[in-house]
Amino acid sequence: MSTGTPQLSKRHFDAIVIGGGGAGLRAAVELSTNGKRTAVISKLFPTRSHTVAAQGGISAALGNVTPDHWHWHMYDTVKGSDYLGDQDAIEYLCREANVAVYELEHMGMPFSRLDDGRIYQRPFGGMSQNYGGAQASRTCAAADRTGHAMLHTLYQQSIKAGVHFFDEYFAVDFIRDNEGEISGVVAIEIESGAEFIFTASAIVLATGGGGRIYRHTTNAFSNTGDGLGMVLRAGLPLQDMEFWQFHPTGVAGAGVLITEGSRGEGGYLLNGDGERFMERYAPNAKDLAGRDVVARAMALEILQGRGCGPNKDYVELKLDHLGAEIIDARLPSIREISITFAGTDPVESPIPVVPTVHYMMGGIPTNRFGQVITRNKDGAESIVQRLYAVGECASVSVHGSNRLGSNSLLDLVVFGRAAGKHILQEFEHLAPGEVAADGADFALSRIHRWDKKGSERPDSVRESMRDIVQNHFGVFRTEDNMQDGLEKFAACIATIDSTSIQDTSKVYNTARIEALELENLLLTAAATVHSAAARTESRGAHARDDYPERDDANWIRHTLYFSEENRLDYRPVQMQPLTVESFPPKKRTY
Ligand SMILES: Cc1cc2nc3c(=O)[nH]c(=O)nc-3n(C[C@H](O)[C@H](O)[C@H](O)COP(=O)(O)OP(=O)(O)OC[C@H]3O[C@@H](n4cnc5c(N)ncnc54)[C@H](O)[C@@H]3O)c2cc1C
Repeated sequence: MSTGTPQLSKRHFDAIVIGGGGAGLRAAVELSTNGKRTAVISKLFPTRSHTVAAQGGISAALGNVTPDHWHWHMYDTVKGSDYLGDQDAIEYLCREANVAVYELEHMGMPFSRLDDGRIYQRPFGGMSQNYGGAQASRTCAAADRTGHAMLHTLYQQSIKAGVHFFDEYFAVDFIRDNEGEISGVVAIEIESGAEFIFTASAIVLATGGGGRIYRHTTNAFSNTGDGLGMVLRAGLPLQDMEFWQFHPTGVAGAGVLITEGSRGEGGYLLNGDGERFMERYAPNAKDLAGRDVVARAMALEILQGRGCGPNKDYVELKLDHLGAEIIDARLPSIREISITFAGTDPVESPIPVVPTVHYMMGGIPTNRFGQVITRNKDGAESIVQRLYAVGECASVSVHGSNRLGSNSLLDLVVFGRAAGKHILQEFEHLAPGEVAADGADFALSRIHRWDKKGSERPDSVRESMRDIVQNHFGVFRTEDNMQDGLEKFAACIATIDSTSIQDTSKVYNTARIEALELENLLLTAAATVHSAAARTESRGAHARDDYPERDDANWIRHTLYFSEENRLDYRPVQMQPLTVESFPPKKRTY
């Protein structure tokens, strides 16, 4: 525990990457193998990052199981985004997918294999052949542990490439150089509480999502939106934060994920009448329609009294018809999860499931090189010198208002790699100046503000925030309910000044970290509630009862949220791809 202005240890690298998940490690491998001294600062041991929990797979039009083409993948992703994705970035994502996946294969990633030795691919929601035709098998999988296989592969490559790891270090806020530009971060070593200054020519944010703003989520405890908080406090915007993906199949009551791969392998949903209801909502794709479509259908079945169980508050995922052999080969972890968290063995009986918050489509706005973008009050856009963002914390935007399953793992490696390449190319122009005399003061004052006494406990603020966001900004939204939520949220956020982590005379490091995470969660939630309340249409994951239609005339634009005065601004969606023709908006049916 320290007070006053301590002598901070200073470390300088060519590049620092904040976050040791898939996106951060892919960027670090690119930089380090090309000779740049690279540090990864991670609050978790890297292989504990949420990427490790990814189950179903990573998309790429390899065509190993069904005929495929990157342009079909692009069409599906643009359509899946409900036409809010930037088509230049989506073209890049889908074109680079095969290279990115083969790179992982050559790094040693243990993919499941077809009999002829090629990478196994399974069907996933919203993935089609020939622009909306038959279902495509595009999702490359390592059983139902794809993220685990990928993260361990990238970690081994990072070690081999000589990346410097600062494990269990918590990044707090940016520091600035004598020209006022971002030039590094202040971080706390969690075990000792020691504070460090890290400076570099390039700072890559790869801090992952913020799903813990919701009560019911598949996200790890660590997904607290830290990079988002840092960006907002630096006066920069977040983009499209109203769009949160509800995954159709979280285990009811537990929130643990059952991969979409379960439906890809032939599982399907049943309501309380034993009906395969997705046939009514998506006659062609059925249980493999876009996630927003399936989640809404499930929520409607439950709302209209056709749920399962004594309270009719969940639906069921049936897998037993697949047989034990397929389940054990392709979905071994799902069987385990179901037995542990739902108390049912899917080989014998269906799994109780509900739509559960899963993925943050919005985030830090970037271009397709990972460079962070901001916009001034006159609407002029600029690149934030030296700052990059990749992975779930970023909004490139390839997912628009609804992500397709297995496109996130792809996003991590494609844009982690792209940001690394861009830094290498621009490196000589990126060197920072000296750290300004007061460059670290802002971060330090935030750390030490938690030394004071107060009445409220951070966990009670956090729990009330999670209820407000869950109840007022869920699968279906209305004006009245959101306005009510905004008022409750303002009251909740106001209590933060009287919160304290003082326990007698001591402040524990872990409590300090939780308090700093809470501040990031509150900022992530603020961006969500304000952005959501302003969008008067239904698009992708943002579904309003009072504005049920998509409004292309007014709303094909990205929301920007600035925390100062909760200001909103908007920027155009990039409808123009790089080399092919644009996919114009069409009604989205599956
Ligand atoms: C249960 C589950 C299953 C999923 N399955 C799939 C799937 O099959 N296919 C797919 O495409 N997508 C899937 N997703 C989504 C996908 O896994 C995530 O979007 C993706 O892994 C995020 O990767 P990331 O590298 O951006 O962040 P993460 O893997 O979340 O890593 C974030 C990193 O940032 C670090 N960090 C955060 N804050 C700080 C701080 N303040 N200081 C220092 N370090 C910090 C953490 O230590 C961590 O290393 C799934 C998601 C979940 C939750």
